Amino acid sequence: MTTVALPPPDAPRLVWALWYARRGWPVLPLCWPTEDGRCGCGRNHRDRDIGKAPLTEHGVHDATTDEVIVRTWWGRWPAANIGIHIEPARLLIIGPDCSEAEREYWRLGLPLGCAIVQTGQGRHYYYARPPDCPTYRLCRSGYGDILTTGYVVAPPSRHRSGATYRWLAAPPETLAEAPAWAVQRLTEAARRPTPAPPPAPATGEPPVRLSPQDLAWWTGERTARKPDGEVDRSATLYAIGVVLAREYVGSPFSWHALELLLRAPDDRWWDDRTTPAAERAG
Ligand SMILES: [Zn+2]
Repeated sequence: MTTVALPPPDAPRLVWALWYARRGWPVLPLCWPTEDGRCGCGRNHRDRDIGKAPLTEHGVHDATTDEVIVRTWWGRWPAANIGIHIEPARLLIIGPDCSEAEREYWRLGLPLGCAIVQTGQGRHYYYARPPDCPTYRLCRSGYGDILTTGYVVAPPSRHRSGATYRWLAAPPETLAEAPAWAVQRLTEAARRPTPAPPPAPATGEPPVRLSPQDLAWWTGERTARKPDGEVDRSATLYAIGVVLAREYVGSPFSWHALELLLRAPDDRWWDDRTTPAAERAG
C-alpha cells in the first residue's frame, strides 16, 4: 500500500483543493464558518448549511478537477471549505453518526486500506466504490451515512463547531474497496421503493362538489380491487359514476353524470388517476 504525501494541514485551501483535483477527485467550494460559528461566506447560511452549502450556482454539479477553475474559485474565496463530489471520484463514504453505529460498523468490518477523516462530529471512512455498487445516499439517524453520491466535506475544512476536518489516515494511492456489507445495504436501500407519494392531484376538478371521501375516487386515491389485488377498472369507473350521479340527483344536470358513466373515458384519463404522481413525473 503506497502512501501519498499530503499537503501540510495549515497549507492554503487552494493547495488542498488542487491536491484532491490532481488525484481525480472533483472539488467544489463551500461556505466557511467564522470564528464564532456563523456563516462566513456572506450569504447568511443557517444551521447545518454553515460551512457546507455550495458557493457555485449548480452546487455539486459544478465540481471539477480543472485546475484553472479550482484556482479561480479559491482565488475568489480563499477560505472556502472544500467539498469532494463522491460519485465521479468513485468513492463510497461510510459515516457513522454516533459511537454505537461506529462500533456496529467495526463489528461488520471496516477493512484496512481506507482513508479516515476526523470530521466536526465523527469520522468518515473513504473506500473505493466497487463497479457493481449503485450510486445512492443511505442516511439514517442513529445509524449514519453510506454514500456513493452527493459531496463530502474534506480536510482542512472547518466545521461550524470550530473543529477542523483532518485526515486520521491519509488516502493511500489506491483505496481499498468498500466492504461487502456496506455495498449490500446500499443496494437494498436503492432497490426499495420510495415511500408512497401523496395522492395524485386530479388532472381536472370534478364537475360537481364532492365530499373528501367521494373526491378520493375522482382523484384516484381510492380504487376498486380485484381479488388478486389488481385495480378493477370497470368497478372503479362505476364507483366514480355513482358518486358523481349521487351529487347530481335532483339537479337539472343529471344527464351529464349519466353521460360520464356511460362514456368510456380514454386511457390517458384513466392512467392519470391510477398512476402515482412520482411515476407520471418521471
Ligand atoms: Zn455561508
